[in-house]
Amino acid sequence: MTRDPECIFCKIVAGEIPCFKIYEDDATLAFLDINPTHPGHALAIAKAHFANVYEISDEAIAATVQTAGRVARAVKATVAPEGLNLLQCNGPAAAQSVDHFHMHIMPRAVDDKLTMNWDLVPGDMAEIGALAERIKSNMA
Ligand code: 5GP
Ligand code: ZN
Repeated sequence: MTRDPECIFCKIVAGEIPCFKIYEDDATLAFLDINPTHPGHALAIAKAHFANVYEISDEAIAATVQTAGRVARAVKATVAPEGLNLLQCNGPAAAQSVDHFHMHIMPRAVDDKLTMNWDLVPGDMAEIGALAERIKSNMA
């Protein structure tokens, strides 16, 4: 499996940095974002290091989208959002801040004014940890 020793998500995959894990299989990992736009904001990542959509393999992107779909259903069951976006960012104009392929699972609220490029604001880690356990229990 490809790995970049400097990549923060590769370090999470390797267990060198902790995460609030929701789901894991051979090819993918899902965990809560530590700068959530809304409670339940999650990330589904390929375990192998691919910087972006231009580099990822067909197999890895398919597996990551499948995991994002499964996580989206568990997030919906847990926080009952008024809406939800799946989003994937590539390059500076799209505000990609981690160069390791990932999909955002983003609960939405009506009139939340969220734009596609948003500011990163740290969440409450205890709340994120507790929510991760609830979402995990709703994974089919
Ligand atoms: P991007 O802007 O690249 O699409 O999104 C990267 C996301 O990764 C951001 O939403 C950011 O909050 C999140 N992130 C960055 N570092 C960490 C980390 O160490 N742990 C977690 N859980 N999320 C992270
Ligand atoms: Zn990586």
